[in-house]
Parts: sequence; structure tokens; C-alpha cells
Amino acid sequence: MTEQSLETLLAQGGHFVDPVTGAIVAPIHPSTTYARNDRYELPGFRYGRNANPTGAQVEDVLAKLEGAEDALVFASGLAGITTFFDTVRAGEHVVAPRVMYHGTADWLRRLGERRGVEVTFFDATAPDSLAAAVRAGETAVVWIEPSVNPTWDVIDVRSAAEIAHGAGAVLGVDATVTPAVTLRALDLGADVVFHSGTKYLAGHSDVLAGVLATRVADERWEDVKTARTLMGGVLGAFESWLLLRGMRTLHVRYERQAANALAIARHFEHHPGVEAVLYPGLESHPGHAVAKRQMTGGFGAMLSLLVPGGAEGAKRVATRTRLFVPATSLGGVESLIEHRASVEGPLSAVSASLLRLSIGIERADELVADLEQALA
Ligand SMILES: *Cc1c(COP(=O)(O)O)cnc(C)c1O
Repeated sequence: MTEQSLETLLAQGGHFVDPVTGAIVAPIHPSTTYARNDRYELPGFRYGRNANPTGAQVEDVLAKLEGAEDALVFASGLAGITTFFDTVRAGEHVVAPRVMYHGTADWLRRLGERRGVEVTFFDATAPDSLAAAVRAGETAVVWIEPSVNPTWDVIDVRSAAEIAHGAGAVLGVDATVTPAVTLRALDLGADVVFHSGTKYLAGHSDVLAGVLATRVADERWEDVKTARTLMGGVLGAFESWLLLRGMRTLHVRYERQAANALAIARHFEHHPGVEAVLYPGLESHPGHAVAKRQMTGGFGAMLSLLVPGGAEGAKRVATRTRLFVPATSLGGVESLIEHRASVEGPLSAVSASLLRLSIGIERADELVADLEQALA
């Protein structure tokens, strides 16, 4: 097949045509086991915990989307993250940002407490703090988010790759909020890219999924594959199908969501009822220049507002919205609002006055009006 744009690849779901029926949508294969032929050979699949054909179909599209040698899908984002970090051994060192997706931070702390993995958290807002955190010859994995959740501080993926590789470590990038239609992590030097497919890839708040894709299918990757089979975190056939179906509109949804987010960020940037708008698409954002360089398809649809009155003030706003749904998660076609510190618990490093917004595909003027009345 000729080289295609990501948009065409996504819209066509990998240009699937069933050789037997001519169906243009991949079938769902619920079978958990696969028969051997008359030479007692397996034609391709063995058992549902290893892999399933519907999952293989979406993995093929994901590998192309990321420019990866291989991709794997998992039963949730965290099933992908925990499986990946299962390949890190006791005594090895891992580096990650201090503010990031709290589930990953919680898992890394557990690895540190129970499995003898050494973890250093660095301050993504301080220059040189990543370089100071890595240890040549000891650090096995540097794990970053290009836009850290939920402050949206920007990490330069290219420079993180140089630092990681200089120390002999691999760079893993959680690109959940910056999917390949805006940021191609492997092209920027990452070794492994991760997505919570639950978010933008699937896009409709109706399926849990995780994705890992690798630049090179090396020894560590084989180990990740083995760990997926042994830990049992494979994505089921129906969920694989939902993920593939959702991905067909990823580029259109993301473009609209990013445009809406920019309009909302600009509207509230100097608003008297808001202390600060955290969004990398604003020229005033400290990470704007790096974001502009590495996010080629828009600045994303996640933004946070700091509002007066601390936790109580923030929660009051989140209970007054009529269109924004007060719920956790992100990346769906409907807009959500969340008081992040309430969700993250006592170890949270997030400001009590922070409200995280996941912007959907509704009309921007109606979303702005909803926030205006909630802030009033
Ligand atoms: C949601 C999320 C995860 C975890 O994914 P699940 O599908 O909820 O397990 C990891 N990283 C980021 C940035 C997320 O937003």
C-alpha cells in the first residue's frame, strides 16, 4: 500500500476488506481458542489471552498511526502501564514527573515500596531537573507526558529523548492527551509511546483500553508481550472493535475539540472570575513555544482553570455547570469538569483551586456561556 496520511488511515480504519465476505468493517471474533489444522499447526492465533484477531486489526492501524514497528492493546490504560513497568527489574531506576497522571504515579510509588525499583520524580517546570534526575548506566526508563496532567506544563519530548538516551535509558511517553494527530512521540525520539485508549482514541466515554507502541520490536518489547499474556491484561474483542470504530473519527473530533478549547482559553484568559487559565495554546503559557514545535495538529482539548475560593470555590463552580458534566476522565465528545484534588486524594500535588476541563465537540459559545453562568 502507498504511504497515506494519518487522516486517511484513520477514516478507513486501515482499509479493511474481509476476503471472504467483502465486509468493510472488521468482524468481532469472540472465540477464546483457535483450532489447529491437519498438520497440527496454528493458523495464526492460539488462545484469547495471547491475542485475538480484532485486537490484531486495531494494533495494525495503531502501529501505522504511530510509525511503530509494533503495537499492543490492553484492557485499560493502566493495564498497559503496569505491564510495561513489569519489565523493570529490582535495582533499576525510573524517572518520572512529579505532577503527572496520578494512577501512573501511584503505581510507580508501589513499585518503589514493594519491588525494589528506585523512582525519582522530577519537577517538569524547572529547567535541567530531568537531566539532574537521570543516572547514567542506572536509569532504565524515563517516563514523561508531553503535556502533564492536570497543569498542562509542557515537556520537550526531543530533549527528554536525548537526556534518556545519553544515560542509556529508554524514553516512554504517555501521549494520551496528545494523540498522533498532533504529536508523534516516536518521531520525536521516544522508544515507546503509551495511550489510554479510553480517552481520545476511542473518544466516546464507552470503552476502557490501553495502547503501547514501540519504535523497535526489541528484547524489552518481547518481554512486554510476554508480560501481557502472563498478566492477562489483553483487550477483549468487542472493546478492540469499539476502539477501532472510535479511531475512525479521531482526527475530526480532535480538531474540533482543540479549536473549542482554544476559544474557551482565550475567552477566560483575562476574566475577573478566574485566577489563571492553564492551556499550552495561549501565548502566555510558559510551554507555548515548545508546544508549538511538537504539537503540529493543535494544542489539545485539555485545560485547567484556577478559581478563587480554594477547594470550596472550585467545587461550587463544578456543581453549577449545566452543560459541562461534573465527572472524571477526558477525551470524549462531551465536555467534562472536575475538581482534580478531590479525585487524587491526600498525595495529590495539584492546587486545591484547580478545575480540570475536558472539552468536547459541542458549540464553543454554549460552553463559554455555561462557564460564565457557573462562575457568576
Ligand atoms: C486515563 C489516563 C491513564 C489511565 O488510563 P485508563 O484507561 O483509565 O486505565 C493514563 N494516563 C493518562 C494521561 C490518562 O489520562
